[in-house]
Amino acid sequence: MNSNARQDLLPLWESAWREIDPSAIVSNYRAIRAAIGPGTKIFACLKQDAYGCGAGKVASLLSAAGTDAFGVVSIADAIAVRRAAPGTPILMYPGIGPDAVDLVRDLDLTISVSGEEDLQGWLATGVPLKVFVKVDLGFWRAGVVPASLRGLVKLCASQSNLAVDGLYAHLSEFGDAGSSAPAQVARLTPLLDALKAEGRLPSTVMVSSSESLLQHPEFDMDAVDPGALLFGLARSGAGRRTLSIRPALSAIKARIVALKTCHDSMGRPPGLPGYHPAMRLAVLGIGWGHGVPRDLGSSASVLVRGRRAPVVPPVHLEHLRIDVTDIPEAVLGDEAVLLGSSGADRITLPQLAEAWNTDETGVGCGLRESLRRIDAAPRSKPNQEEGE
Ligand SMILES: *Cc1c(COP(=O)(O)O)cnc(C)c1O
Repeated sequence: MNSNARQDLLPLWESAWREIDPSAIVSNYRAIRAAIGPGTKIFACLKQDAYGCGAGKVASLLSAAGTDAFGVVSIADAIAVRRAAPGTPILMYPGIGPDAVDLVRDLDLTISVSGEEDLQGWLATGVPLKVFVKVDLGFWRAGVVPASLRGLVKLCASQSNLAVDGLYAHLSEFGDAGSSAPAQVARLTPLLDALKAEGRLPSTVMVSSSESLLQHPEFDMDAVDPGALLFGLARSGAGRRTLSIRPALSAIKARIVALKTCHDSMGRPPGLPGYHPAMRLAVLGIGWGHGVPRDLGSSASVLVRGRRAPVVPPVHLEHLRIDVTDIPEAVLGDEAVLLGSSGADRITLPQLAEAWNTDETGVGCGLRESLRRIDAAPRSKPNQEEGE
């Protein structure tokens, strides 16, 4: 599909959009599947509206590709995923409570239990439930403390209304981690042995998401629950596993919705960074209301007709000003590229993340719902690396 045909998919009045490449998501999924082999299940983590790619859409792609289960946090995401994938298990990470029990039953969701108080709340509903017990191995976030895990699993097992289908942890792999991933998993290993001896080891044990999937193949266990990696938001180069991964978010674009050469009849210029007399100022129909950082400076730039145009701060709610003095061929309605290719030039996702003072996940998950999604055109070279 050429770019004109794609524009036809948008209502004519749309001034900004993001492009998501469905084939990247499926290809990333397949790369993970190939790396872990057929014996380990994949719980595709689709939280935050599938990291900004659209939970319903991604759920249909991945259930068609054969994913074993999904993981989400919000009820909105669970509803979207359930509609798109009627038969695939959905694990609710900690977030919802017993007041959502009717939806849990109707949508056939599996809940997480992180402690006895948590469990009692769900039991009080009287509704039969599927449960994954969550243990905190050193993330210092959700999950039962390791010392109380066996007691909690025992209590769950004594309840006729509960099916304990899994046991999982989310490893802390960031700079603020108190202990390394191997040290965290070492807290679990003796507990798994004890649960096994007691005949209470759940059938699915899962600890690995994107980072440890790349760094620690030995932690694959029964299942893994990657999120960022599925969307090409995690760097795959440095790990012990090297996967061919590419970003699903392939472009962010906005149209020039106003264009003029500045003139002193507007009065004294309001201290615009980079302002110069006779500046040709273009206004893009995108702003911080769409998720562009509000504090973007004049060192940031966008591409217009294959050339760099500096941003003229500050960013407005619906508008972003750029200096197109050096791009005289720019006209009203032109497409400006914040992320992606224009002519021979390109702004990659890591470059945009740096300019936006965040990381790739911060870009993908920071875009707002008002920035519409369209499918990116299929690529000619399916495994072409992007931004690595
Ligand atoms: C976010 C999250 C994941 C996925 O993490 P990534 O680093 O994006 O792979 C997995 N499990 C839980 C509980 C999470 O909160």
